[in-house]
Amino acid sequence: MRSALKWWERPVRMMRRDYIGNFAPFMKSDLDQLARESRDRWHINCEWVMATPGCAPGLAYQTLFNSPKFEKFPQLGRFDMLREYLPHARRYGVHLLPYVNMHWYSYDFAAKHPGWEQLLEDGTPYGRKSPLYGGGTTLCVNSPWRDWAFELIREVMRTGVDGCFLDGPVLFPNCCYCDSCRALFTKESGRKKMPSFSDWSDPLWKRFLQFRAQSWANFMQGAQDAALSVNPDAAIFLNGGGFDSSAMLTARDPARMEKFQSFSGSEEFFHCGTAYKSPFDSLNLARFLSAGEKPAVVFTHHALSTWHYAPLPPAEMANALAQSVAGGANTWFAIFMEAMKSRAGEAFEAVSIGKFLQENEEYYTATQPAAETAVLLSNRTLYYYVTRHKALTHEVGAGKEMNLILESARKPTRADLAACRDTSARLLDHEHHGCFDALNFAHVPVRALWDNHLVPSKLKGVRTLVLPNAACLSDEQIAAIQKFVKAGGGLVATFESGAYDEWGDAAKRPEWLRFLGVEKVEGAFAPSRIEDYLTVKGSALPGFSDGYLMPRPINALKVKPAGDARPLAYFNNPVGLAYQLLKGISDWPAALLSKRGKGRVVYLASPLFESFELYHMADHKELARAAVQLAAGAAGLQVQTDAPGSLAVEVRAQKGRTLVHLINTSSDMKRPMEKIIPLHDVQLTVHARGIRRVRALRAKKRLRFTASRGSVTLRVPLIGDYEVLALE
Ligand SMILES: [Zn+2]
Repeated sequence: MRSALKWWERPVRMMRRDYIGNFAPFMKSDLDQLARESRDRWHINCEWVMATPGCAPGLAYQTLFNSPKFEKFPQLGRFDMLREYLPHARRYGVHLLPYVNMHWYSYDFAAKHPGWEQLLEDGTPYGRKSPLYGGGTTLCVNSPWRDWAFELIREVMRTGVDGCFLDGPVLFPNCCYCDSCRALFTKESGRKKMPSFSDWSDPLWKRFLQFRAQSWANFMQGAQDAALSVNPDAAIFLNGGGFDSSAMLTARDPARMEKFQSFSGSEEFFHCGTAYKSPFDSLNLARFLSAGEKPAVVFTHHALSTWHYAPLPPAEMANALAQSVAGGANTWFAIFMEAMKSRAGEAFEAVSIGKFLQENEEYYTATQPAAETAVLLSNRTLYYYVTRHKALTHEVGAGKEMNLILESARKPTRADLAACRDTSARLLDHEHHGCFDALNFAHVPVRALWDNHLVPSKLKGVRTLVLPNAACLSDEQIAAIQKFVKAGGGLVATFESGAYDEWGDAAKRPEWLRFLGVEKVEGAFAPSRIEDYLTVKGSALPGFSDGYLMPRPINALKVKPAGDARPLAYFNNPVGLAYQLLKGISDWPAALLSKRGKGRVVYLASPLFESFELYHMADHKELARAAVQLAAGAAGLQVQTDAPGSLAVEVRAQKGRTLVHLINTSSDMKRPMEKIIPLHDVQLTVHARGIRRVRALRAKKRLRFTASRGSVTLRVPLIGDYEVLALE
């Protein structure tokens, strides 16, 4: 088993020492000591040394190693970063994956190579209109630059390193209209004029989006071929991005890309912004990335957002690393060496969890997701979802009461296709992230699925499938979902799930609607965040009593229930103004339960998770939990615990072993997290059969447990920031 896996298929802990544009400190270092420190103090087994600089004014065309074919970064003289460091890294079991900047080039370099730049529709280079990091431009994957880039990759590999990481290329929004792209697209589409960017009325616009994603994948295939031509075992990958609607703008498509890379990786850097920051972002991203066939890695800066020389609090850093591995991904961090001068202690403390990961590699090797709830994150929906309900574009007031003036004005609707797309993209981003987080706070472990994952092998072990407004689905996906439910699975579908085909065109699917328990969709309520409610009907919703009143999610559809669907709750008649009397309950159901074959469908006529992400209401989290529980049927929820919502639970499996990851984010209530408050005596009941032994790996203790009816119940005496229970 061990030997069958390549090194990068085993647990990998990566780091990069960041020197920005001054490599003198590295050149003057005792390289042997540096490599030893990589293993013994940073606890890593893979390091990114810079092959090309990532600094102003866009020096991606210079190398930090010796090559007769490329310009050398002058400061280094004959010093070769890769070849000098490689033997030392080898000595300490550290694999070298050099960083190759593939997206930030100076204007001078671009001027020497006409035809290589990414162009906007009017012919302006992207980097002239939007200078990269303040100055510099970017090149096109379809231009002759690709051959230059592939030769650079071969030269990097000829130094003897184990692979490389490509930082870019990036397909920037509003690009690319260069001559190479125009010729290729015309050849493919048969039309001379390319669609204007974001012209949703142009029938070729969606083809253009596919063309961009495929162009990027083609480039990556060439890059991988280049690396493998020098070293058949090379690992190569790039920065692939997460699961938000900007995927469409930047041509991201993880399923298309994974064929040509060794890892699926993406950044989850911390941002000290004004917006809400989920405590579980690294966990959620790790789940998304590790859904694919390739090992995943989450990139974490040990830096305070855009203040790169100030480090993150160790508690936040450690938590991010724990979340990465709990979600099935590998770890990566960057240390900004300037910060080490005054705050080295913090940095070593921040990554000390690596020692535990180093010593417990066995428990992170070849693991599989074992969460019984799966969430479909549909990339086709991220690309093509444009709601047909123009009412959703109504803007709601901020709902803030200041000086007795309540801002509730509705601005006039601008409901063209672009406005509908903006609204849809925003809604979807909140719905996706809110879905993970509502379930995190409800202690429902989840695994992520991509569009191509609605197949028996990926649905194995899944009891309940959640469609968080997975609007754009193919007929094949719809059939696969129905088959899954009829065979006994549970389904929770929200809002416009399946209302469009995989190209975003409205689908006539009366049979699918009835499957969800809906006879007809009559339209949408105007969005509202003031005095609008829904009321629970009957006692079928676990945890809610008949007549329970709770805030209505901001968006909602008016649907007529199918004859055999059981309404669980109804929307109240709209009020939309503060301090008004309620106007009674409407005939429009908010939640429906239907029996389908051996399974159950819970349909929510709202994007419930969007509202959870925006307003963090406990009622919405409880409603999400109730929906999953109801859909799961007699088996019930996979995990039950008395822990607070700040403890996320993830379950993964190995042969003969279930691993329960407990990530504790109980702290100062919000950023900055400086101290994690330990949890004591946490009761936990988890679905698991045939268990003989339970150990807490970090505490290095055996735990007593009782087993009954397919579950084990135990008490965890202490959970610091992170604990792993091995159920064997
Ligand atoms: Zn181009």
